[in-house]
Amino acid sequence: LYCFTVLYRIIYYSIVICYLGPDGEHHWSKHYPFCGGTFQSPIDIQTQLLRFDPTLRPIELQNYNLSANEQLTLGNNGHSIQLSLPRRMYLSSLPHRYTAAQLHFHWGSEHLPVGSEHTVNGRQFAAEMHMVLFNSDKYPNISVAADKSDGLAVLGVLIEVGEFNPAFAQFLKYINGIKYKDQRVQVPAFNIRSLLPVLLDEYYRYDGSLTTPPCYPSVLWTVFKNPVTISLKQFLALATAIYSSHQQESAPVAMNSNYRKPQYTDNRVVLCSFQGGEYGATLLPHYYHSTTTVLLEYYHSATTAIPQHYYSTTTAIPQYYHGTTTVLVQYYNSTTTVLVLPQY
Ligand SMILES: [Zn+2]
Repeated sequence: LYCFTVLYRIIYYSIVICYLGPDGEHHWSKHYPFCGGTFQSPIDIQTQLLRFDPTLRPIELQNYNLSANEQLTLGNNGHSIQLSLPRRMYLSSLPHRYTAAQLHFHWGSEHLPVGSEHTVNGRQFAAEMHMVLFNSDKYPNISVAADKSDGLAVLGVLIEVGEFNPAFAQFLKYINGIKYKDQRVQVPAFNIRSLLPVLLDEYYRYDGSLTTPPCYPSVLWTVFKNPVTISLKQFLALATAIYSSHQQESAPVAMNSNYRKPQYTDNRVVLCSFQGGEYGATLLPHYYHSTTTVLLEYYHSATTAIPQHYYSTTTAIPQYYHGTTTVLVQYYNSTTTVLVLPQY
């Protein structure tokens, strides 16, 4: 059963979250009416519907490079693992100053390793990181900000299984100390910037909500276009070693598949900070697999034509038809890791 009691840290009262079963996410709105309302998150980001907004500046991080002399609290709150962040960390490139509070994760299971909350053209990634910040220009703390329409900002990072990620290892190496609910450990701080994608200027932006009850529609969402990778071993550490139950419970409940399904976009427009992301063809994440193989994926909504210059260097071109109008083509190039990405 995927039920767990949560001391919900943002609003400080005890609730029960279930993603499946009679109290699953489809029934959240019985007790939390906002969960059945508008401006809900996550969503499926459909690249043919994006609107380029030239005013979206690169995300600017302040005081993210923390010293190892400092300690951060890593905890298991029963529905995720969460790393506390010091209040001197903030974002300076949004309409208000947004001060950091915590980051946490959503992930899939060992046998179904897809657990991101946001999806892109229907594609779900292995996991997703959420860095939660609050509007400290207007509100004294995250509890007061949580239900205000301009109260929160979340940076979303899509995560896929691939290369080992040394930044994630900085806290994953301590998760055996938080296997069970309500356990906490102190971990040395590190450069939090290293958890984010290299490019902070390519992202999707929309107005949404908390993805867990009470689902307040208070979040300015930034979902980075480029995913980061973690190794399979790192993914399995999340998917198999963490429990949503207390240590003393006789039947431990594994914590996995702790994601909410995509919500209706309604009339919301998803903005993108980069050109080429809107309408027609969109280049989606490119992945560098090991040392010699490159996997490049892109989605083209208007045509099934494949650029000729890729034929000449690729060794295998499996083609997948994704939905009715979108074609996903994957290229495996075994001769080089340098790619010139096609522009449309
Ligand atoms: Zn989250």
